[in-house]
Amino acid sequence: MAPDVGFLPVGLANVYFIGRPGGKWIIVDTGFPGGADEVSAVAEARFGSDSRPEAIVLTHGHIDHVGNAAALADSWDRPIYAHCLEVPFLSGKSAYPPADPTVGGATAFLSRFWPTRRRDLGGRLRGLQSTQVPGAGDWEWLPTPGHSPGHICLFRESDRILLTGDALLTVDIDSWRALLSRRRELARPPTPFTIDWNAARESLKKMAALRPKIIGAGHGIPMSNSDLPDRLENFAENFRAPRRGRYVWQAARTNEHGIVYLPPAPFDPVPFATAAALFCAGLALGAGYLDEKKKL
Ligand SMILES: [Zn+2]
Ligand SMILES: [Zn+2]
Repeated sequence: MAPDVGFLPVGLANVYFIGRPGGKWIIVDTGFPGGADEVSAVAEARFGSDSRPEAIVLTHGHIDHVGNAAALADSWDRPIYAHCLEVPFLSGKSAYPPADPTVGGATAFLSRFWPTRRRDLGGRLRGLQSTQVPGAGDWEWLPTPGHSPGHICLFRESDRILLTGDALLTVDIDSWRALLSRRRELARPPTPFTIDWNAARESLKKMAALRPKIIGAGHGIPMSNSDLPDRLENFAENFRAPRRGRYVWQAARTNEHGIVYLPPAPFDPVPFATAAALFCAGLALGAGYLDEKKKL
């Protein structure tokens, strides 16, 4: 993305490396669980075998972003930073508001299988204080709530790079087709996990006002175009929440202790067992299709 900014997809979610070999560096987000060795190996190749980051910074605390945070922080003996409003969900105090599988789309379907247990990153977890990003002096973070209560984006003004976490994506993960083809496009936050759509819209406007030239999101391949600032402005202006869903008309409310209020759970017409059967059937069909392709 830039000489001192790289990205690594770890199980569909991106990890970002900021910094140069021989200098201070950090990582932003850590990917799905099970990828700690891969992240370590890439960090070692990029920064040297004895090099350790200043910090691990999290855009938010969903499992696809914190999956390897504890393992990496332990192996590097380094702190993990997140916004104070994410801390209750990362310190074992509270689970996140539950996903809404009825909101529609690919991720909503898959959200039925998403782990919901409380997570505790232990004593290495710290709340972010000033707007400066720890270990990356030329970067600042800004609050972009909506997808999660303490979601943050990271921005560097000198080259207008914006790391958006899940507040803005560069792949439409609501669409099965886009998910498989990984087509690059500006897309809204993952719908089943977004708990306040008005806040999500305001956060998009805030990001558009930065007029970024390069966007690296939590999901999708980074984007860079001369017309990107205008496209983002247009996207933010025309942004629409999903038509229906648990958090569309009423937001979940949380504070520094965790969940304060949840809108009532909607009726889910697809029970877990049916969803699992459909998912397995899809996998079998997909495998068959690939086998056929191999034979051709
Ligand atoms: Zn998320
Ligand atoms: Zn995510």
